[in-house]
Amino acid sequence: MGELTEIAVFDGHNDLLSCLLDEQDPEGRGFFEGRAGMVDLPRARRGGFAGGFFAIWAGNDPANAPDPMAAARHFPAIDPGGALTDTLAQAAILLRMAAARPDALHLCRRAADITAARAAGAVAAVMHLEGADGIGGDLDELQVLYAAGLRSLGPVWSRPTRFGHGVPFIYPASPDTGPGLTEDGKRLVAECDRLGVLVDLAHLNEAGFWDVAAVSDRPLVSTHSAAHAVTAATRNLTDRQLDAMAERGGLVGLNFGCGFVRPDGIKNPDTPPEVLIRHLDHLLNRLGEGGVALGSDFDGTTVPNFLKDVGAYPALIAAMRKAGYGEALIRRIAWDNWVDLLARVIG
Ligand SMILES: [Zn+2]
Repeated sequence: MGELTEIAVFDGHNDLLSCLLDEQDPEGRGFFEGRAGMVDLPRARRGGFAGGFFAIWAGNDPANAPDPMAAARHFPAIDPGGALTDTLAQAAILLRMAAARPDALHLCRRAADITAARAAGAVAAVMHLEGADGIGGDLDELQVLYAAGLRSLGPVWSRPTRFGHGVPFIYPASPDTGPGLTEDGKRLVAECDRLGVLVDLAHLNEAGFWDVAAVSDRPLVSTHSAAHAVTAATRNLTDRQLDAMAERGGLVGLNFGCGFVRPDGIKNPDTPPEVLIRHLDHLLNRLGEGGVALGSDFDGTTVPNFLKDVGAYPALIAAMRKAGYGEALIRRIAWDNWVDLLARVIG
C-alpha cells in the first residue's frame, strides 16, 4: 500500500462544511478526530487527500429546502436571509478549523498557498460557495466573503437564485432545461472575474453555461460533473460543452456520485471502478490530459462502495493504473491540473 498512498489528491468538491453545521460541530472537531461521514483527517492521511474545494451549501434548514438525496428533481428558491446565515456559519467553521490547527489544515487564497500547504503536510482548503443564494444584488456579501478567503463560486445550486436557474436532477435528459443567468447573474460573473474568483459551472443548466462562457474570459470549469455522453443526466456535460471547455483551457473534476456516473443513472453504490474510468477516458478524449481532475462530491451524494470516503482514493488510482494510465497522467488528474488551473484563475 505504501506506493499507492504516494499520490496526493486535490479534490474539486466535498460537502464537509454543511455536514459539520448539521452535526452541530462548529469547531470541526469531527474532521480532526474522525467522524461518521466521508471526509475526515485520519482517513485523509491514509488516502492521500491533501487538498480540495470545501463547499459552503445553504439549505440545511429542512423548512427551507428538501433533502437533495431525496427523489425530488426540482428545487424551489430559498430565503436569501436564511441562506446568508447558513453561508456565514459554514465559512466560520472553515476559518475556525484553519485557525485552530495550522498543522493540519490551511485556508488557501492563492495557488502557491496550496503548494505550501502540501509541503507542510497540511490539507489545502479552497473556500467554495455552492450557490449564491445568500448574496444580494449589490454583491456586498461577495466582497466580504472574498476577504474571508472565498475563491470559487457557483451562481446557483440546482435551484433558482436572483442570479440564474440551476439544473434540476433528471435522467435521462438534456441539461438544456430553461433560462440561464439573469442580468444580476452576468454582473456576478463579471465581478468574480475581476476579483479572481473561479466561476463553477457544475449546477448551471446549459443556457447558464453558455451565458458564463459569453460573459467570462476565464477558463470554463466544472468542479464536480461527469460526461453526458456516458450518463445522460442533466448534471453532466455534453460533448459540445466539453469541447467549448477544451477551447478555453478549462477543466472538469470528475464527480464520483453513482447517479451521475452509472450509465443507468441509478444511485446504486454497487458501482465498479471501470464505470469511473469510462468517464475519465471520455473526458480525456475531449479535454486533453490537462483538462481532467477529480471532484468526488464526498459528503454530498451516494458514492461507489469501493470509493466510499477520502481514505479510498488509492482504489481509484489503482484502477487508473490498471486502465493503462501512466504515472505522470495520474499525477495530473489527481493534483497538478487543479493547481495549475487555480494558478491561472485565482493567482
Ligand atoms: Zn453539487
